[in-house]
Amino acid sequence: MTVTSFHAPHAPGARRRTLERSGVRLTGHVLLLLALAGLSPTSAPAQGSRTTIILLGTGTPIPDPDREGPGVAIVVDSVAYLFDAGTGIVRRASAAARAGILALQPPRLGHVFLTHLHSDHTLGLNDVMFTPWIQGRRAPLEVFGPPGTQRLVSSIEQGNVEDIRERIASAGGPSAEGYRGNVHEIAEGEVFRDARVTVRAFRVPHSAWKTAFGYRIQTPDRTIVISGDARANPAIARECNGCDVLIHEVYSDAGFASMSPSRQPYHAQAHTSATQLGEIATAARPGVLVLYHQLYFGSTDEQLLVEVRSTFAGKVVSGRDLQRF
Ligand SMILES: [Zn+2]
Ligand SMILES: [Zn+2]
Repeated sequence: MTVTSFHAPHAPGARRRTLERSGVRLTGHVLLLLALAGLSPTSAPAQGSRTTIILLGTGTPIPDPDREGPGVAIVVDSVAYLFDAGTGIVRRASAAARAGILALQPPRLGHVFLTHLHSDHTLGLNDVMFTPWIQGRRAPLEVFGPPGTQRLVSSIEQGNVEDIRERIASAGGPSAEGYRGNVHEIAEGEVFRDARVTVRAFRVPHSAWKTAFGYRIQTPDRTIVISGDARANPAIARECNGCDVLIHEVYSDAGFASMSPSRQPYHAQAHTSATQLGEIATAARPGVLVLYHQLYFGSTDEQLLVEVRSTFAGKVVSGRDLQRF
């Protein structure tokens, strides 16, 4: 179910044209079905764009078997940049590579930017360090994140000393350095620039974290903002300010209302409700708003979209793993 967009014989735009040629009028009902199948015409990267966004994982700490842990890949030309490293994202990257996005072949995963150190966003870091190395990556992984990232990476390296020693000693084993994490503990501001992207970190409020980031990514042809985990805050609209794609966490208002009152204060401090997100998006004016890290609390995608649309009139898609934008 979650890989629908890669089973489609054509890109969503091509499928839409095919449907239109075959006389299918894209009524609201058909568009809704396409959207639910991950084939929304709004979700296709523009023709000829150098930038593709792939949602590798849209999940949360809840182990939903249809959603891997949080991870977004931004591919510019032939290079991928990862944002967060939830469980399973290396295998999702491999699925995307098999479907034609060669920049997501595991040995080519070279950069990861962590929004914060909640474990649902870092449980896959071990995987991003080791699996691409075993598959042939020779250079260390560049890891960007808040204070504490070095300790996390060092502990992963130290905890795997036996594995590293055995593999390197084996005949035809992997490179001596490719498992390492080259850590950059960052502060707010521009944190990375190369020929393809400029990445800016900005602080967001998230429960009791001293440092949690959202990211603004400028590519040659698109501006993308990723919220990370955040309660409603003005930084998102300021950073997006008419950006092409806003990828934002969310929880359902209806789900929240049905939750035990003892659990509500944490989520209100940590996360953004769908109606709050609609207000943020109205101020931020993105080309498309993509929901990820959805906390349903018993609600549904349809209900989430109704809630967001109650305060936002623009395009909005409830993201699924492996959906492309
Ligand atoms: Zn999270
Ligand atoms: Zn978090």
